[in-house]
Parts: sequence; C-alpha cells; structure tokens
Amino acid sequence: MTMPEDSPRIRILDPATINQIAAGEVVERPASVVKELVENAIDAGAASVSIEITTSKDSITAVRVSDDGCGMSLQDAELAFVPHATSKIATIDDLHHIHTLGFRGEALATIAAVSRVTLVTKPRSSGAVAGTRIQIAGGTIQETTGTGSPDGTSILVEDLFFNTPARKKFQKSRNTELAHIHDIIEGICLSHPDIAFHLFLNGTELLVTDRTTRSLDTIARLFGSDVVHDLVFVEASLPFLTISGYISRPSLSRKDRARMLVSVNQRYITSAGINDAIRAGYGTLLPKDRFPVAFLSLTLDTTLVDVNVHPTKKQIRLSHEKEITDAIREAVQDALLSHDLIPSAESPALPPETLIRDIPPDNPVTYAFADNRPPAGVSECTHAGTVSTDQRLRQTELSTGSEPAYLVSSLLPEIEVIGEFGGIYILARTNTDELLLIDQHAAHERILYEQVSGQPRDKRLSQELISPVVLHPTPKDAAVLRDLLPALAEEGFILEGFGGDSFLVRAVPVILGRMEETAILDEIISDLVNEEASQSVTNRERITRIVACRGAVKAGTVCTREQCQRIVDQLRRMGNPFTCPHGRPTMIRFTRKELDAMFRRI
Ligand code: ADP
Ligand code: MG
Repeated sequence: MTMPEDSPRIRILDPATINQIAAGEVVERPASVVKELVENAIDAGAASVSIEITTSKDSITAVRVSDDGCGMSLQDAELAFVPHATSKIATIDDLHHIHTLGFRGEALATIAAVSRVTLVTKPRSSGAVAGTRIQIAGGTIQETTGTGSPDGTSILVEDLFFNTPARKKFQKSRNTELAHIHDIIEGICLSHPDIAFHLFLNGTELLVTDRTTRSLDTIARLFGSDVVHDLVFVEASLPFLTISGYISRPSLSRKDRARMLVSVNQRYITSAGINDAIRAGYGTLLPKDRFPVAFLSLTLDTTLVDVNVHPTKKQIRLSHEKEITDAIREAVQDALLSHDLIPSAESPALPPETLIRDIPPDNPVTYAFADNRPPAGVSECTHAGTVSTDQRLRQTELSTGSEPAYLVSSLLPEIEVIGEFGGIYILARTNTDELLLIDQHAAHERILYEQVSGQPRDKRLSQELISPVVLHPTPKDAAVLRDLLPALAEEGFILEGFGGDSFLVRAVPVILGRMEETAILDEIISDLVNEEASQSVTNRERITRIVACRGAVKAGTVCTREQCQRIVDQLRRMGNPFTCPHGRPTMIRFTRKELDAMFRRI
C-alpha cells in the first residue's frame, strides 16, 4: 500500500477551535448557558441570584445572571475564561470529594467561545468601589476596564452561537427554549431553598423564590400552595445516605415523570434508577401508567457519587446503587403508609381517564337500611350472587382472624356500615364522624391481593377441581398461555395440554374457592393473555392481580349489610387499605365540614 502523496499533516488545534468543539458538549442551547452561570453563582456563595432573559419574537437574544456572591479580582476574572481554569479543585484527589456544582473549568471558556460576553465583577471582601469589566467575543478578550460595581458578579451573554451557524440553526423555538430554562431553574430552586432566585423575561418577573429553610415554601412558590396539601414528608437516614423531601399522596399523580425532581448533594440531576425507585415505593397505590410528584433531596457520601460522567453533570453514577435505590423505595413506602391516604371528596381521587374500569351493567338501585329490610315496593334483594358472595367472603376471612374491629391495629379509623348503593358502593360512617363511600369490588380485590401475595411462594395452596375444566383459547392465545404455564403452576393453576390448542385445568389456587363459576377461569386466562406484559411487573405479580380482580365480589353484586361489614372489617386489616391493586381508590371520605359546605350550611 502506498501513502497518498500529500498525506494530511497532523496539527494541534488552536485554543479557539478547541473551545468551539468543547462548546458542543457543554453549551448545547441557551438553557445550558443559564444552568452554568447560575451554578457558578451558587458556587460563589450567593444569597440571591437573578436571571434575566431577553427574547426577540422567535429566539432568545440575551441571558444575564447576576449574583451577590464572592466576586472576582481582576486577575481571576481574566483567568476565568481560560479553558480548565477553576478555583474549585486543585488535584486529582479533589475529584472524589466534589462539594461544588462546577469543577471542570470549562463553562466560561466555552460560553465565551461561541458568544459575546460582558462580565462585571467585584470581590465581596475588597472594600473597593471599583470592580472589573471584561468584554469577550468569540473567545477573544476585546476590552478590560475598571467600572463601578456592586459586590458580586454579573455575566451578560449575547449573540449565542453567532460564530457557529450550524449550531444556531438547530435551536428550537423560543418557547421550547424558555420551557427548558424554566425546568432548569425549578430544579435549581428546589435544590437550594436557602437562596433567593428571581427569573425575569423581557423585564417581567416570571418566578421568584425567597430564602427559606423550609423547602415546602419553595415548593409552594413554584407549584402553588394547593400542591402542598397533597404532599407527605419523607425522611430516612442511613450511614452513607440521608433522604428528605416531599412526595405526593396517591390522589395526586401524573401521566409522566416531569414532576419527579431529585437532587443529590444539592445538585439537581436526572436518574432513571432513582425515579424508578420512587415509583416502586408506591407499589399498587398508583395505577401502573401513573407517576407521582416527588421532590427529594439526597445527601450522599461524596465518594459514592461520580458526577464526572458528562460535561453537563446532569447524569451521575452511583456506587452501591442497589442499596441506595432500595433505601429510597423503602423510605417512600414508609412515608406513604404512615399517613391517612383516604382521598377526600373535594379532590377527585384520580383523573377521570383512570376511573372508567369496572362500570357495571345497569343495576336496579337497591336501598339498604339498618335492619336490612327494603322499603315497601322495593323487592327483597335475593341476588343470585348471595350464596357465592358469602363463599367468596369466607374464603378471604379464613386467614384474617376475627378480633373485634376496635382491637385491630389499622391505618383506617373504625368503620360502621350503614348501607349500600347499587351493588357497587358501601356507605359507612367512621368513629371520627366522617362519611365514607367504599368501592365494594375494589375493597375485596385489595383483600384478596394482599392475602395471595402474603402467602409464601412454595405454599400457594392449590386445590383440585372436582371436574376439570377444558379451555379452548384461540391459537394465538394458546401460544401465550403455553409460555405462562410454569408461572401459572407456581401460583397454583395446574393446566395441561389437551390436544391441539385446548387445555385442561386440573387445579386452581385455593383462594378462588370451590369454583362453581368456571367462567372466572376463562376470564383470568383471557386477562392474562390479553394484558400486555410490562417490564416493571413480574408474571407473578400480574397473575396475583388478576386472580384478586376476578376472584373478588363483582361490582353489581348486592351484598347484605352484614356482608358489607365483613368486607370493611377485613379491609381494615390490610397493609394498604387505600387502593385496589390497580391503584384505584377503595374509598372516598366526606367530612362533616365538606358536606356542610356542599349544602351551604356554612
Ligand atoms: P468551574 O465552575 O467548573 O470552576 P467555570 O468556567 O464555570 O468553571 O468558571 C471558572 C471559574 O470562574 C470558577 O472556578 C470561579 O472561580 C470563577 N467564577 C465563575 N463564575 C463566578 C461567579 N459568578 N462568581 C465568582 N466566581 C466565578
Ligand atoms: Mg462553572
């Protein structure tokens, strides 16, 4: 092989070019400039930071960040724009003990390389009147002068990407960029409640936080004081980790993770692993496609956190990630289950789209009275389901003991059933003078679910059917079912092939009772086959949920008052009596005050 005659010469790039290349990583968009400048202000010990954004009709034209932090001397101010110049670390060892947001010494150099920057700064302790003003364009210092300046630093960035047209062309719309800036500022405000932030857009104040020691004040400032009522406090302390913050009651959830804001050592970060751990702490308190609102602040031994993963430092690497995420999940779980989570009638428990399951067919409304006798003209409720209802209830009662209600230690108050409505809702009063509407099916489903999942895996009792049932699924369903046979067997369903695509069901979990209604089996199998397997839920969990749902007293089954009371008594013994395994609420509370308000009595 011959070398090309004019083989390209290797040369070392000039600093301006190097900085423009580096800027591709650190300064992706106007929001990155805001982030880097605000982080510098925080590192400078500012008590108050103001961010002013100027826009034209379709783009962001300038960003100014001013702080009352430590400021810089003339020498430091000039050095600050040199690549890899930093006051925050000195040696390689310092990389393992990062206590500042910055440490790479890249931001100012790269921002200056792709914009026009004006810096005005004065050291806090100098007592001098004059400060320093430096103007830089495309990385070259244009002018350094003395100037009148308050203590602290103000950096104005204009004409971003003026010398990198390709990057400029890829900027998103003005509003998209503003949304990014807003997100970043929110995260920073939450991780630093002790600093006052002011965000202005074209001279108008968009967002303000005050200095506070209570992060709840900052949350209220950013997201409105209504949100605060739906939050519970989380706290946990381990030798290498402390967790503190607020998470939403299940009555407040979202379709996305956008309001899960987490900081690690006061650095606002994004971590799928941590978000998953928070979500996992809710378990069946939320429907599977909903996410909580969470504002958590983690303090970790700095040796366990590597922030030097990406130039923007938004991602981090954690050592002992499993221990950390387990601790987060447990802290969330403990916080939730130590609170009264019964949603009040005032706040709809869930957004309407999640409330459309299980609407029963038209049912005659049945009135139930204390003596269980219907008023004249209303037929006695001899629903065909009564016998099997009793069996179903008994099935779950076997393992819940029978102490009187007031002896049970419960997350719920004592509850006395006063009636039922339409075979769907149980009406009850609490010993704290509240009215409860309880979803009978959801409540029984929760009871079954906790009983099935509470059984040790190898002791899931199976019972043989007196006459085996034959299932004839479609070929596609049969294929899915075949894959699920081992998982089903572990849960107590014994199925065998019965020629072609047919199956013979020989045994079912004991919890399903004597299985007079073999239709349940069809329903369970078709739920299993048709429900999309999701990564976050194991087959075992899916089977348990489906068995609970199909084995529970159906909506529309009119129960006697005594049966309703038995459901409620069992529910009071549950670890989580507040939601069904799908995350729907089991009950809604009306306080006396709320009812009075509805009737305008106050
Ligand atoms: P880093 O933050 O990684 O150190 P930067 O390029 O962002 O790197 O900043 C370089 C240096 O300039 C900082 O280490 C700090 O000493 C100084 N500096 C930057 N911004 C400020 C500010 N707002 N107040 C005081 N000093 C600052
Ligand atoms: Mg910095």
